[in-house]
Amino acid sequence: MSRLRVVRAACPACGQQEEHVLFASLNGARLPAAAADVLAGRFQLADCAGCGAEFHVEAEALYVDMPRRLWIVHLPLAERARWAEHERRVTELFAKEIGAHPDPQVAELHAELTPRLVFGQRRLAEALRVVELGLDARLLECLKAVTLRDNVATLLEFGPVELVLASAEGGVLRFELIPLAASAPVAALDVPRSLLASVTERGSEFQDRYAELFSHPWIDVTRYLLAGSLT
Ligand SMILES: [Zn+2]
Repeated sequence: MSRLRVVRAACPACGQQEEHVLFASLNGARLPAAAADVLAGRFQLADCAGCGAEFHVEAEALYVDMPRRLWIVHLPLAERARWAEHERRVTELFAKEIGAHPDPQVAELHAELTPRLVFGQRRLAEALRVVELGLDARLLECLKAVTLRDNVATLLEFGPVELVLASAEGGVLRFELIPLAASAPVAALDVPRSLLASVTERGSEFQDRYAELFSHPWIDVTRYLLAGSLT
């Protein structure tokens, strides 16, 4: 089931306050057009009736796609600083919504789900892209850890950054570089896909080093950057 709700927000261009209808809950398997919007970076996009500007109204939303095993809570980027609190809440919400279901068929489907938390619509789009490309989100975050370390001198000028997978073509994974202090990409970084294969081969080693990525809903190497503990 998808659900809508009305969110009041001000246009960043002209300041006009308006009500916008957004998804509170979106079932991507049932609404493929809405899922395509998420992938295209058009999630929670609103038009201002005053000046015609298009802008994102970032608000909490649940994204579910059972065939693709996705159960993702999306929160505004501004909430990332309180990630530990949100992570606990998402874990509890998942246990309440998805835990013990009386219908055995539903329970079987639910057993294949794990809760996921993302901050910002770019990361929600990335989560869908990763599944579409047949990649493992956790190993991809491990690859980002390696990439951030290996390119520390190059990335220094941007300050702390996050890497968001934009495409995978040929042997190249292209990441957008987004400074943690900003919300839009400032550059791109290409990483050979063979590096992901090598991370995958050493999966258990990475699982030990970045255990939280394999056991917590916020599957994001940024958690180590914010804690100052990326090794
Ligand atoms: Zn406006």
